[in-house]
Amino acid sequence: MAKQISYTSQYRSKFDYPMFKVVMGERARIVLIEPNPTMELAHYVKGQGSFVCLGDYDKVMSTGADSSCPFCRVAERGQDSSVRPAGRRFVTHVLKYITKRNGDPILPITVETQIWRFGEDKFSQLISAAEMYDDLRKFDLSIECTDDTWSRYNIQAIGNKPAAYLSDKDTIERILTQFKSERIADLSVFLGRTVGEEEAQEIVDRVSGQAHRATATQEDIGLLADLTSPASADERPTSSPSTPVAGGLPFSLDDLLGS
Ligand SMILES: [Zn+2]
Repeated sequence: MAKQISYTSQYRSKFDYPMFKVVMGERARIVLIEPNPTMELAHYVKGQGSFVCLGDYDKVMSTGADSSCPFCRVAERGQDSSVRPAGRRFVTHVLKYITKRNGDPILPITVETQIWRFGEDKFSQLISAAEMYDDLRKFDLSIECTDDTWSRYNIQAIGNKPAAYLSDKDTIERILTQFKSERIADLSVFLGRTVGEEEAQEIVDRVSGQAHRATATQEDIGLLADLTSPASADERPTSSPSTPVAGGLPFSLDDLLGS
């Protein structure tokens, strides 16, 4: 049913949200405004996106897979595999400062609420920073891209002074009010689609079915070549024993079709 809405962030599409990313040659200044990131085990499925693993977290973490998950059952490592093994993905809100050329935040402090989705390598760097500075909401992070192809970042906490948004009471209130109005309650949608076992199996079948069809097509081409080649057509009667069709079928149609 149609309804009237407003041009406010509560109606912003989740997939339209600004995603945090640093490109080569850029140095971003951010603050992790949430104490805890959201984490999920997910499979990347070629051409389909990411899907939440249906397996048990502890089992997947200790053995790499859980056979109760249709994705885990067919997952293989490597760039070419259709279904990748379950991996941890993380997502959190960040406040990204608008900065001057030298990296200092402009005044008055201005931020954009963005969503940062990342993998193990960045999570590990953030653990190191958090272990050193305890609460990462109180310190800004300086993030530089060191490899554009793989989006590798060098993450450093600016630990010698409090986060820029904490400069005075008014700024704190203004920035936190902005964040509260712009934040997304449930970030898990950014980590992968959640599907039931049946749908997961269908996706797996579809993806692996495509692979099988591709193989079958090559075989068909080979078969076609055999059939159209006079030499092999001549050989066929001698190479395969003739099937006794006359006098009845060598199999029961009822068995094949089911009664
Ligand atoms: Zn799985």
